[in-house]
Amino acid sequence: MTITAEAKQQAQDLLDYIDACPSSWHAVSHTAEILQKNGFRQLDEAQGWDFDKRGKYYVTRDGGSIIAFVIGQNPIAQSGFKIVGAHTDSPSLRLKPNAATCKEGLHQIGVEVYGGPILATFTDRDLSLAGRVTVKSSDGFKTHLVKLDESAVRLPNLAIHMNREVNTKGLHLNKQTQLPLIFGFAADSAEAQTALSNAFAKPLNIEPKDIISWDVTIYDTQKGAFWGEHQAFYADSQLDNLASCHAALEALLAADKPESTCIAAFFDHEEVGSESATGAGGSFLLDVLQRICIGTDTSEEDKLRGYANSFFISADMAHAYLPNHPSAYEPDHHVMVNKGPVIKVNANQRYTSNAETITQFIGLCEKAGVPCQQYSHRTDLGCGSTIGPIMSAQLGMPTVDVGNPMWAMHSIRESAGVEDHGFMISVLKEHFA
Ligand SMILES: [Zn+2]
Repeated sequence: MTITAEAKQQAQDLLDYIDACPSSWHAVSHTAEILQKNGFRQLDEAQGWDFDKRGKYYVTRDGGSIIAFVIGQNPIAQSGFKIVGAHTDSPSLRLKPNAATCKEGLHQIGVEVYGGPILATFTDRDLSLAGRVTVKSSDGFKTHLVKLDESAVRLPNLAIHMNREVNTKGLHLNKQTQLPLIFGFAADSAEAQTALSNAFAKPLNIEPKDIISWDVTIYDTQKGAFWGEHQAFYADSQLDNLASCHAALEALLAADKPESTCIAAFFDHEEVGSESATGAGGSFLLDVLQRICIGTDTSEEDKLRGYANSFFISADMAHAYLPNHPSAYEPDHHVMVNKGPVIKVNANQRYTSNAETITQFIGLCEKAGVPCQQYSHRTDLGCGSTIGPIMSAQLGMPTVDVGNPMWAMHSIRESAGVEDHGFMISVLKEHFA
């Protein structure tokens, strides 16, 4: 297999993007920065939207979700919306409000499990803290993104001499008692609390006592990297689902005077069920579509005509075949890394693809000159889901669930194929063409 220089560069851009996005709030902020640089203007949900009917815009909600769009050349009733949906969040550990504790002089950080991470992969890694804090200000409070660059916390394994069955029975971690992370030394809980507030205050150049609250996640400080023969693979945290966000963003940036109104919608809270103000189950996308229609003088009926003429691609990652575990896979639906985007099918609507939307996506792949594959989960194994079924239920639009093949989904260090990222960008560009 030869990896093209273009695919390598696209994958490198992805790794840089992920490394700049240690939390969903950073992902939204960084995405907004890229959009700004490329001529997209920010709209505020709390203000009136007076916009150019052929312009490029983005809007964020509560810092964790972002929707960017390019208004189409044709009326919405006629050409509808071309949408790619993805999610900004990844399974991880989140700091509790009173996170700092002291045990036997060791300062530890209490965490909650966010979503479904493979907890064992969080052990013995160079972890740190990132997220947002609210800080007292003269007119109430201000929200600041915060990221500790150096490795600040760690979850050491127990030595094998004290856990003799770890290789036969696996690593089991009690979520309440065995996840607190080591941060440092402290005489008591008050000193530990001060030290943690200080750690956040220092990079923000603020007084620790002014910190009111926070949303902070654990992240892995190790940068993304290529690996394997011909460096055909790459590894990083949060490939699920920042890889899809990045592919959709690249495709939207390339949209030039599209016929349809093109939208990239990235939601928070997918890993915990999407039911929130910022999640795909909330009103964010519906509200943005409504306001695009208001701004383009599109009537209610024409909006609904537009929905029927739309196509929604729910882009999330897929499970690549791993030969060491053949029994985990449906034997007739092995999808391979570097063999192209995967169409995900589930009769019980855990994925929303159907014969017609699959055909539409295959057509896009053909136009883009990109191979594609089809995935079905083992019938005797519970299947994951995506924002696809939620979005298609809300909007009634034809929707397909797709994603790039990857290994170790929900590990803190996931991996995937270099060629696939470029393939996905090409197909999504075709969607937005
Ligand atoms: Zn996902």
